[in-house]
Amino acid sequence: MDVLPGAWRRTAAGAGLLSPDGRVAPTIFAEMSAAAARTESVNLGQGFPDEDGPAAVLEAARDAIAQGANQYPPGRGIPDLLAAISEHQRRFYGLDVDPDTEILVTAGATEALTATLLALIDGPDDEVVVFEPYYDSYAAAVALAGARLRTVPLRRPDFQPDLDELAAVVGERTRLILVNDPHNPTGAVFTPEVQAELVRLATLHDAVIVTDEVYEHLSFHSPHVPIATLPGAAERTLTISSAGKTFSTTGWKIGWVHGPAALITAVLTVKQFLTYVNGSAFQPAIAVGLRLPDAYFHDAAATMQHKHRLLGDALRAAGFDVFAPQGGYFTVADATALGGADAAAFCRALPERVGVAAIPISAFVTPENQQPYAGLVRLAACKRVEVLEEAGRRLSGLR
Ligand SMILES: *Cc1c(COP(=O)(O)O)cnc(C)c1O
Repeated sequence: MDVLPGAWRRTAAGAGLLSPDGRVAPTIFAEMSAAAARTESVNLGQGFPDEDGPAAVLEAARDAIAQGANQYPPGRGIPDLLAAISEHQRRFYGLDVDPDTEILVTAGATEALTATLLALIDGPDDEVVVFEPYYDSYAAAVALAGARLRTVPLRRPDFQPDLDELAAVVGERTRLILVNDPHNPTGAVFTPEVQAELVRLATLHDAVIVTDEVYEHLSFHSPHVPIATLPGAAERTLTISSAGKTFSTTGWKIGWVHGPAALITAVLTVKQFLTYVNGSAFQPAIAVGLRLPDAYFHDAAATMQHKHRLLGDALRAAGFDVFAPQGGYFTVADATALGGADAAAFCRALPERVGVAAIPISAFVTPENQQPYAGLVRLAACKRVEVLEEAGRRLSGLR
């Protein structure tokens, strides 16, 4: 089968998007969700909530449709949402962001990331530094942008990077350093020392920091600190976030990126030919969400932390070694003591064995770096309490 242009085939294959026979490679997420459906398992594989978000936000979207917000919105986003994002960054972080020139609304954080990579990568010698394990779209987007992926390992038990290893990877060819904090899949929140070193290295090598902060409101132990608030960082940082995780509206795909006006303009030049615009009726609804009282954001974090505790207790009782997350949707657990030293095989068998689906951490790691993560599995805590309790009952059958 040779219908694909060679260059596309190379980049797509490099990103693992193609299977060797030229078809779109099935992802582990699709495979596990199919197994979960077939076996009527509790699906803790994919990370989406099974409950609706705030009623005021849902109602605002219905109102917007009724009032005719059904055509192309402005290219950078509707003014009300741009203003709400700017207000939000000032209210929570003291950041000063110009709504007219320094923000771009995107089709989720995913488009913000991909458009940023496509906009800022010059050629195949450009390197993008990524912390591993990483959110699955990162390596694919780096490959599609034609850049080289350089990885820095996050090491158990706290999944912080080693500062010497980080300094050894960032160099003259580093165009972008891609950060995800709070982190998916490990639940790590970077320490102030790691954040400061990132800014120091980016400044030294004139690199741009791209930070994916979709879990900014799900940080459990300390208030979230955007890298852009560190001294000297804002001028070289693109901050990405999304409404999906904060308001349980993952299907709406309203995201945004903010940073220096020139960089935002560069990202806009790509975005306008990817999707042009998106979500006309959802944009005003997310503006409502971003202006909700502090109690909403506080409760969202407290509720998620409670769910992690339930899930963590159940996993420990079942014999897993659990790494308590500091933020985000996911708990990571080591299945080695349960015969799961090969977590990929363990996860493939789990739906049939006890009726629970999970994802091996190997899905978030490049093939040559699998070893330190071999026994680890990722489980989503963003499910109803009854669902997590049922998962716990089922997992206890592993003993
Ligand atoms: C869910 C998720 C995204 C995707 O966000 P969208 O707004 O749905 O595109 C990006 N990054 C991380 C780390 C995520 O967990």
